[in-house]
Amino acid sequence: MKLAACCLSSVAFLLFQPFTGKCQVGQLAGQVNNSKGSGGFPGITVTLQHDGHTIAGTATNQDGTFSLSNLPVGTYDLVLEMIGYRTERQIGVSITTAQAARLTIPFPGPCPYTYPHHKLSVCMGGHTNHFIPIAYGLPTARMMQRAKQGKVYLGGCQVTGCDPKYYCPIHQKEL
Ligand SMILES: [Zn+2]
Repeated sequence: MKLAACCLSSVAFLLFQPFTGKCQVGQLAGQVNNSKGSGGFPGITVTLQHDGHTIAGTATNQDGTFSLSNLPVGTYDLVLEMIGYRTERQIGVSITTAQAARLTIPFPGPCPYTYPHHKLSVCMGGHTNHFIPIAYGLPTARMMQRAKQGKVYLGGCQVTGCDPKYYCPIHQKEL
């Protein structure tokens, strides 16, 4: 709310009095590189979000570059999405009037879900129990029943190659 307050009120104001509202704006430019290959990653949907709301969006060019302009000054999440890949979210991206922020982002990002042998997943507070498995794919009637009973968590149909195996129902966290 904080970031856009000046701008939102300006927009409301502009409806009645054009040309008097003034908003501080900045730009964001970047390059998305293929972390599993080489060079830029084209066709990735790039959105700038605040509190889950999309402020601006674009897609990466053939060379992986992107740019967004006319952005209200503030701090945002930068979200990178592509079908078949785990969504990458960069938190705390600042937009200032000073100069165009320029980012270099590897995509897909490092996978946080790894399961080394004999090593238990650890949840918040260090607990390693009460986890339930995550099931992917279209669920059968029996699987839906088991999900209702809290014995399994439905992870959706999309498998990305970096997918969590377990779910903590206490903290609603994928592990
Ligand atoms: Zn937990």
